[in-house]
Amino acid sequence: MIPSATLYDAVDPHGHTIFIDSLICQACYEAILLDDFCDEHGVGYVDGRAYYSNLAYYMHRGRSPNADDPLCPACRESPTGDGWCEACGIGVVGKLRFDDRSSYDRMLQARRTLQQALDRLGSCELCAAAMVAIRGRCPEHRIHYRDGKGQPDP
Ligand SMILES: [Zn+2]
Ligand SMILES: [Zn+2]
Ligand SMILES: [Zn+2]
Repeated sequence: MIPSATLYDAVDPHGHTIFIDSLICQACYEAILLDDFCDEHGVGYVDGRAYYSNLAYYMHRGRSPNADDPLCPACRESPTGDGWCEACGIGVVGKLRFDDRSSYDRMLQARRTLQQALDRLGSCELCAAAMVAIRGRCPEHRIHYRDGKGQPDP
């Protein structure tokens, strides 16, 4: 599905085990406890595991559907359609469910960024990889990226 090993490695869909003792950064330490990001290191934590792309991070913020999920009439009619349902307070992205709006919105943003990165592969693989990273930089073009948007190095 991702036709570039460099981009795939940047998306890095799997979580990394971390060892709290080995963390020297206070922000990382707090982020692990709160399922948050360390901006300095460009890493997000979910359930004590580390993720290096927004896509991987938000994929793991999502959960599987469960029997307790409310289903309003609109959701019952179209249970597989992606979208946020006000009535149910649940966001649907493929097989994932999101209980908070901001994670849902960020998941969609991460998916759009992946699409932009795929489009970029033809011109620069390193830019494409940097786009999906939580904090990425293309050394070739000296551009750093956040949420897929590039800025020249200061
Ligand atoms: Zn850190
Ligand atoms: Zn609904
Ligand atoms: Zn580049």
